[in-house]
Amino acid sequence: MEHSNSKVSTNYFSEKIYVKCPKCLQLGIITASLKNKNLAIPLEYKAQYNCTNCQYSLKETNVWFGLYVGKILRTCKSCGSNLHFLTKPTKETKQQLLGTCETCKKENEYEITWKKYLKNHPNDPYFGMDLWLQTAIKSNVLWAYNLEHLDFLKEYVGAKIRDGKNRHKYSLITNLPNWIKSAKNRDLIIKKLSILESDLLKNYSNK
Ligand SMILES: [Zn+2]
Ligand SMILES: [Zn+2]
Repeated sequence: MEHSNSKVSTNYFSEKIYVKCPKCLQLGIITASLKNKNLAIPLEYKAQYNCTNCQYSLKETNVWFGLYVGKILRTCKSCGSNLHFLTKPTKETKQQLLGTCETCKKENEYEITWKKYLKNHPNDPYFGMDLWLQTAIKSNVLWAYNLEHLDFLKEYVGAKIRDGKNRHKYSLITNLPNWIKSAKNRDLIIKKLSILESDLLKNYSNK
């Protein structure tokens, strides 16, 4: 794999993703082909889903199991000022929401535009299913799309000196939070990632 020549974002690993089947909660596999793996999120792609346990499968990405974020971009119904609200990520997509105008302080109901919530979250970016490879580390969740991604994280965290020969490679990593980069979590993270990996290999070695 040519990490050193390309910018490595999570999206780089998103052509094979292990998820929890939304029907039977066993291991499911998403396979995708992306036009450009080096973008921050998948834009042009084909993706499909197959459960390894039940019959559930998806060929089109018009189903979304994940969270949504709602946006109100309107003018205030009372005073005409511009309004701009974002909701918290949610599964409830009500069509109307009460919004309070910052200018006149009046509360009115507004229509909301809902979008898939794609920010750093232990879901796949195509169907919003829960990732299979995720583990709690203190108050955070560390997750990986597949074993290659997991190995990459392990290697990254385990690299004691991130300069010299390896600096170029690792400086290209994007979207990793600071608690992963922090040396004091190194041993715990590597241990948890190794457990995830061996559990998957032990239980699903034929997948
Ligand atoms: Zn299933
Ligand atoms: Zn107003």
